[in-house]
Amino acid sequence: MDIVLATKNRGKAKEFDELLRPLGWRVSTLDSFARYEPPPENGATFCDNASSKAKAAAEALGLPALADDSGLEVEALGGRPGVYSARFAGPEATDEENNRLLLAELAHSGIPGPWKARFVCCLALAWPNDHVRTFLGEVRGWIVDRPRGKEGFGYDPLFWCPELGRTFGEASPAEKNRVSHRRKAMEALARDLGARGRGAGEATPRS
Ligand code: IMP
Repeated sequence: MDIVLATKNRGKAKEFDELLRPLGWRVSTLDSFARYEPPPENGATFCDNASSKAKAAAEALGLPALADDSGLEVEALGGRPGVYSARFAGPEATDEENNRLLLAELAHSGIPGPWKARFVCCLALAWPNDHVRTFLGEVRGWIVDRPRGKEGFGYDPLFWCPELGRTFGEASPAEKNRVSHRRKAMEALARDLGARGRGAGEATPRS
């Protein structure tokens, strides 16, 4: 079975490929479809964004398509930055600018740190017939009051993970990948595809 990953992010593509190949799926990325333009991300939830990206790719390319959306939710900020995680400090914001704004807002929240937070990932798998299924993964932790470590990206240096006893910025990529929200969403997807494969001989959509 062929599947398109609706991402141009090579790191993500590699993770998805490693997960799906053993299940018998042949994976290509949007790099193989240079003229395809993904839709803008303007949904209210991670799953809205992932679903619209997956559906648009499946419909345009005539293949099952997998897309993801992810971000950070901080309890003291009512779940923000959420779907705005990448552009929290503005459309072209750097990771450092987003991290600085996050700490500034938390300092002004009147709630003492560390602050409860979670990373969330939604994966959407869509078929050209418009059918779509979504899978959620999360990792819970705490936002600390200053960046720690240089690994990872985004909010990793501020996110202290209880399972690892350090921030994602201090963890190796392998350690982070073992517990991450993306890994958990992928495991949910793999469980679903595996179960369908065993039951029906091949993975087929079902509502
Ligand atoms: P996207 O899923 O690539 O759109 O990511 C959205 C944004 O959420 C990123 O730009 C980061 O700011 C944040 N984010 C998502 N996953 C992670 C992670 O694993 N570590 C740190 N930040 C993340």
